[in-house]
Amino acid sequence: MYNIGIDVGGMSIKAGIVNNGEIISKLSKETDRQGGLDKLADDIIELITNILNKNNIDIKEINTIGIGFPGVVAKNGGVTCVNLGLKNALVVPKIKEKFSNTRVMVGNDANVAALAEYAYGSMKGYESGVMITLGTGIGGGVVINGKLITGANGIGAEIGHMMISSNYFDCNCGNNGCFETFCSATAIIKYARKLVEEGRKTIIIEKADNDVNNITAKMVFDSYKENDEVAIEVVSRFRKYLAMGLANIINFIDPEVISIGGGVSNASDIMLEGLSEQIKKHLPFDGAGIGEIVIAKFKNDAGILGASAL
Ligand SMILES: [Zn+2]
Repeated sequence: MYNIGIDVGGMSIKAGIVNNGEIISKLSKETDRQGGLDKLADDIIELITNILNKNNIDIKEINTIGIGFPGVVAKNGGVTCVNLGLKNALVVPKIKEKFSNTRVMVGNDANVAALAEYAYGSMKGYESGVMITLGTGIGGGVVINGKLITGANGIGAEIGHMMISSNYFDCNCGNNGCFETFCSATAIIKYARKLVEEGRKTIIIEKADNDVNNITAKMVFDSYKENDEVAIEVVSRFRKYLAMGLANIINFIDPEVISIGGGVSNASDIMLEGLSEQIKKHLPFDGAGIGEIVIAKFKNDAGILGASAL
């Protein structure tokens, strides 16, 4: 038997046939962000039909069709994605209209990425794992004994919006002080930009062709390696709040493993420098030890693999 994983993103919808954690075939098409639920369901059905035909596989050989979305998935399966114009959209019945005898599941993309790492990647073999994805925002996923913990209403594990401290700008969610306003790629860029605009001298702005709008998180980490004072300040601030966020997770769940993924984790050597020691400083139970902190295995395939494991 095979599973199908669908990764719905803002730019493209990717589909993959998965067999024992291996993607044996992939297909994608552009996301129609204005099309609403009906068009999205049609596009997903078209991708599934095409990928099955291409591989000469019958739908009867598919155990589960899992679909990951960049938004909130409520307990009733209602999908809300502001970017895709979906509000409490019931996707499963739409897919079932075509594939009535196949199990169809939906999940949030960060949860799905955690499931991919738990089933096949950096959290494989552990009982309890938490994944955080440091990208444009911060996504979170909690897996315990093989089950995603999504809460009573499907809005649990929103680790990016746990409030850490007060910050100089508000989060997109309307709160102030969310974890993602300190430790996402966006947060790193904003803080570097702020220091440049305050007149601080730094090679970051040279790398950005003297335009603050060109600054990327990678430029900050590259400048850190060159001992740039401003970059060191930005990275130290990032690491300080990352340690607080991870300490909160440990205080709350004490997982066997925490996996860090997303674009920022490409600078894993810098990110992990002294991180465990900083985390331990925030823990009330000195000497109890903490779980492993690892870097996620999957980059672009996490969405397909994780959705297939829903
Ligand atoms: Zn927030």
